[in-house]
Parts: sequence; C-alpha cells; structure tokens
Amino acid sequence: MHDFLPASIQVLERGWLSSNNIVFAQADVPTVVDTGYVTHGEATERLLDEALDGRPLARIVNTHLHSDHAGGNARLQRRHGCRIVIPPGLRDAVDAWDEERLSYKATDQACERFSHDEVLAIGGRIELGGQDWDVLPADGHDADMVMLWNPQEGVLISADALWRNGFGVIFPELAGESGFAEQQATLDLISQLAPRVVIPGHGAPFTEVDDALGIAHARIRWLAEDPKRNIDNALKGLVAFRLLDRRRMDLGDVRTLIEQHLLTQRGIRAQVGDDAEALAARVMEQLARVGMATLDDDGALVAR
Ligand SMILES: [Zn+2]
Repeated sequence: MHDFLPASIQVLERGWLSSNNIVFAQADVPTVVDTGYVTHGEATERLLDEALDGRPLARIVNTHLHSDHAGGNARLQRRHGCRIVIPPGLRDAVDAWDEERLSYKATDQACERFSHDEVLAIGGRIELGGQDWDVLPADGHDADMVMLWNPQEGVLISADALWRNGFGVIFPELAGESGFAEQQATLDLISQLAPRVVIPGHGAPFTEVDDALGIAHARIRWLAEDPKRNIDNALKGLVAFRLLDRRRMDLGDVRTLIEQHLLTQRGIRAQVGDDAEALAARVMEQLARVGMATLDDDGALVAR
C-alpha cells in the first residue's frame, strides 16, 4: 500500500478512536504493535486475521497503554494465546490493574483487563520482522511511552510523539506534572535520528518528516507558552473521543464527563476552574465550530 515501507511491515490505518495496528505477519514471531480501542475489538480481530493470512499472532507489543492502543490486547490474547510485551513504566499498575495509574479512570475510557508476559528494555532492542529495532524513550504525551526505531531501514514507529500534523495531548501537564520539556526532548531525539519514514500511532505513514517535525516543534512551543491551550485541546480531544464511541452527547453527558473525570485532574482544575457546565457548553460549541461534530435541534452534540 505504501511503497516506501519495507515489505515486512503492514500498517492497518484505523482512525482516532483506535490506534493504527502495525503488523509483522511473515516474521518468525508474527507480531502486532498496538491493538486499538476495546469497542473496535471485532474489527481489529478481523483486520488482523486478514493481515496474518491464517497464521496465529505470537506477540503484541504496546508503545504505551492508553485505551486506544491497548484496548484489543485481552481479546487478541484470548484468540491467539499470544504474549504481551509492554513498556516497563506501568508494569506494576498492570499487575494490580490500577485504572487510576493506567489513565482509564481520569479519561473515563474503557480497556479490558490484560496481563503482560514481558517488559521492553528502554535503550535495548527488540526483533520485529527479522530486524533489530531500538526501544527509545518518548516522554511528553505519556511519561511511560516508547518509540521503536529501525536504523537499518530508517523507519520510526513514533506512537503519539509525532503525527503528520502534531502529536498527542501532553497528559502529564493535566496532572500538574512536567510534560512540555519532555515532549520537546522527544522531538529533538527524532530530529537527530532523521527517519526516512514515520509510522505514527494515528494517521497514514509518511515521509515528509522534516515538515512534520517543523509543525510539531512550533506546536510544542505554542502550547508551553500558555498551558491553557493544552488543556483546551485535551478537553476537546477527550469529548470528541467519547463522541466517536457514543455518537450523540447532550449537555448533561458532556458535563458529567468533565465534572466526574476530567476535573479530577489537578492541572486542569488549576487552569480552568470547576464550572463544569460552562466548560461543557464551551467545548461543545468549539467542536461544532471546527466541524468535528454538529449540534442537533435539541442542542446535543452529534458525531459526523
Ligand atoms: Zn496515547
């Protein structure tokens, strides 16, 4: 599909509710990197079956454990009996299934419980599709995220650290922790690697890496200048994510999501106060204005 990708890699491009699934089907150890959101599990299973062409999946590797990247883990493990390899940072949280530390509580997103078999070594290597990939730290969007780098082919699996047009919400800042400087450092690391191809967590793989890095560097400076921008972005993103799943949300639904989940985050409350109803109305209006959703006759938000 993308002639700039090595033949050993298939990218199942999924959208925003589910992350992309990156498949190494013909390898000795058939592997998928990231598994999408739980409500898309059936489609993930079917798409992966097609990609694997009858071979069983032997291994799942997660770049990070956000619900849209690890939501298919449990289902695929049931089907294939495959091993699950995760970044090291949240291994205890997975063992205890601590939904607070795993971010599912604060975002009110679902993820079926899974257990892990192995952890990645940051700074170490993992073999994927018959080649060695470096496991690199990718703090910023998520303190425990990793990227996978194939120096031989110049291919970077960037997760949510670099997209064609931006990167993921800087979640640590919402919890009142540092994230902008870390995201900056991650972008600097990518610049040094100078990848030929980037396979992002969302959106199509791309080769216009310098352009994407230019956009991302400008964006992180813009966010760091005024942290409210990151929060605004997060509120919009999290409501839009929920809307993709539910298809329709009225003011009460948006208000509840903001009040019971998002406003429990220290960084958010400190920046925007705690008037959930006003925030809900503003986010709904913004999503409609930028065309990410429409408002129906009853004033409810409807997915496009
Ligand atoms: Zn993420």
